[in-house]
Order: sequence, then C-alpha cells, then structure tokens
Amino acid sequence: MSNLSTQLIHHPYRPPADFDAVAPAVHKASTIVFPSVAALRSRDWKHKTGYTYGLHGTPTTFTLEERIATLEGGRFCTLVPSGLASIVLVDMAFLASGDEVLIPDNAYGPNKAFAEAELAAWGISHQFYDAMNPADLAAKLSAKTRLVWLEAPGSITLEFADIPALVAAVKAHNASAQAHPQGAVTALDNTWGAGLAFNAFTLGADISVQALTKYPSGGADVLMGSVVTNSEALHHRIHFCHMRVGYGVSGNDAELVLRGLNSIALRYAAQDAATRQLAVWLQTQPQIAAVLHPALPGSPGHEVWKRDCSAAACLFSAVFKPEFTPAQIDQFCDSLQLFKIGYSWAGPLSLCVPYDMPTLRTVKPWPHAGGLVRFSVGLEAVADLQADIAQALKRM
Ligand SMILES: *Cc1c(COP(=O)(O)O)cnc(C)c1O
Repeated sequence: MSNLSTQLIHHPYRPPADFDAVAPAVHKASTIVFPSVAALRSRDWKHKTGYTYGLHGTPTTFTLEERIATLEGGRFCTLVPSGLASIVLVDMAFLASGDEVLIPDNAYGPNKAFAEAELAAWGISHQFYDAMNPADLAAKLSAKTRLVWLEAPGSITLEFADIPALVAAVKAHNASAQAHPQGAVTALDNTWGAGLAFNAFTLGADISVQALTKYPSGGADVLMGSVVTNSEALHHRIHFCHMRVGYGVSGNDAELVLRGLNSIALRYAAQDAATRQLAVWLQTQPQIAAVLHPALPGSPGHEVWKRDCSAAACLFSAVFKPEFTPAQIDQFCDSLQLFKIGYSWAGPLSLCVPYDMPTLRTVKPWPHAGGLVRFSVGLEAVADLQADIAQALKRM
C-alpha cells in the first residue's frame, strides 16, 4: 500500500467482535477500572501498551495517533488540544531555564508570542532568524541553543525555506565544539504540508507538529494538534511532558479528525488546484503588485518548493500596489461576499485576513510597500470565488 490515501482508509483498528462497522468507535472515559490492585499497580503508563486513565488515551485517540503517524511517515504521535498546544508542548519538553530557542521570523505568530512571554518569564531566551538565509541561522546557533523551529512555507507570507539546508546548519553545529553537549533538536511546523506535500523526516526534521485543526479535520469545527517523531528517545520526552501537563483530547473530537482523514488527500489536491488557479489569475489584475504562493515562479523559495514538494496548500497572499491605502484594502475585504473574514484555513469555507506586515518582521524589513491580504481557498466552485474577488477589486 504505497498510496497514502489507501493507507489512511485501511487502518489497523479492530472493532468489537461481530461488529464490523467501517468507522472506528468513539470511546470516552475519565476513569478506566482495573480488575485488581495488582493490575492497577502494574499497568504500563509509559509505552501506551495499555489504558490507564482517560487523559492518557482511549482506543479512539490511540487509533488517531497511529493514523497521524502514518500521515506524517513517522513512528510516534502525541495528540494535544490545539495546533498551538503542539508548539507549546515541544517548547516545554525540550527547553529549561538558561536555554535558547531559535524561531523563523516568518513563523506562525503565536509561536513567537509564547517565546516572548512565557519562555522569557521562565528564563528561556529566543532569537528570530531569517528562514530564507541558512547562514543567519548558523550565526545564531550557540551553546545555549536546544531547540530550532522550522516552518515551510512561512505563515502569511509563504516564502518556502530550504529545510534540508537549515537542518544541515543545525547538524554541523551539533557536531562542533560550540554546541550544547546534548545538541539542539529541530521541530517543524508541518501544518501547511499536512504530511501530503512533503515528508518532514525525509527533509531532516527531528519532530513534526501539525494543527490537525486545518487539513486533517477539514471541517472548521474542531481544534487539535499533533507531535510526531521517529525517535523513541524524543518521543519519551514529549510523552512524559504531555502526561505531566495534562493535555488530553476528547473522543468526539478525535472521531471528527478520523472522519476527516478519509478525504484529506482529495481535499488537499482539490484546494491546491483551485488555489493555484486563483493565484495565477490574480497576478494579472492591475491592483496587485505581487501574489505570494510557492508554486508561482518568482515567489520567494519557488525553486526549493519545486525541489522538495509534490503539492501546495490552499493559501496565497496578495500584495496590493502601494497607492491603495490600508482603509481601501479593508474595504476590499469587507466587499467580498464568499470569502469571509476570519482566521484559520483548510476548511470548506474560503477566508481572508489583511495583515500589517511591517509590524510582524524583526530580522529584516518587509520588502513591500503595499498592504497584504492572505486568502484561504475553501471548497466552493473556483469560478464563483474568482468572480467574488473580481467584484471586490472593482469596488476599490
Ligand atoms: C493554525 C496554525 C497553528 C495553530 O493551530 P490551532 O489549532 O489553531 O491552535 C499552528 N501553526 C500553523 C502554521 C497554523 O496555521
């Protein structure tokens, strides 16, 4: 079974005897009873070989963990209550007072915000680096560096970073005398690729996190995250930290994500095709200075995307010509009928958000003078979406 769609639909879940339903059951529990005190004392909490307490897993969540590991091409998965919680869990599992974390300047914003607030308060320093310049990362690695975040493409601006080159910089540093004795771990936010556009581990990441909220759910109705790795040692650090902080997910939410996984590859491909069609068309519109999408020649990191990826997600950003004021760009968004104004993406409904880019960059100034709107393309007919953008542009 080499095809991922086939693998995801044919899973090893086994229903109760003589109840061969296609869908996995939804198991819900806080308490799980043990047949004896001896069984309670001997049940294994650490390797997920048995059930101990609802917070630490049910047959439904264990099935979903196995499915997400399959999706990512990894061995071990831990589920958490949101995509952001997957980032926070990795931070808490690998960082201690005196350590430093390096984060791409174009990373998902709340990853940076957690470093600036909680991590700083806990005595953990951070630096932001230019993800498009491996030399900038190499220069910032030090004996304090224990964790390096990676993300491709960048949130909002969609530059596609050279992940193998960034990983190579970390590995070279880890092998040098300047490194922390235990080295630095690399963790990739793989929400955009979703395990479908590229394999995080083939590109060299130690850990891959995803907001299951996005493609794996696909319904815009559940929040969940995952942390996947191939390394048993890294997994145990993540798993024990997860047990101590009390992050659990509900059986009902896990069911929604299991259901979404059946169609993830089809949705990803359909939204990819629609997004590219709109992005190419929008490039020809006179109000637009640039369209950012890694599959477009000229978009930052396009050549790397072509080398490392077989697909692209449902996001593109439009940079308006500088003569359009922020108020006009807000009005453009307000004029859209089908594209709703809202965060998140990869659900059925198309969305847009205007961003004030210069305030979001700290390493290098943002190069464009005009305002930016990020679009997330849903599952509506692409001709209707194009007509919607066209009518809103006309009103500017
Ligand atoms: C949405 C998103 C997250 C966070 O997911 P939530 O489930 O909303 O917390 C993390 N990283 C990226 C790249 C995202 O797009």
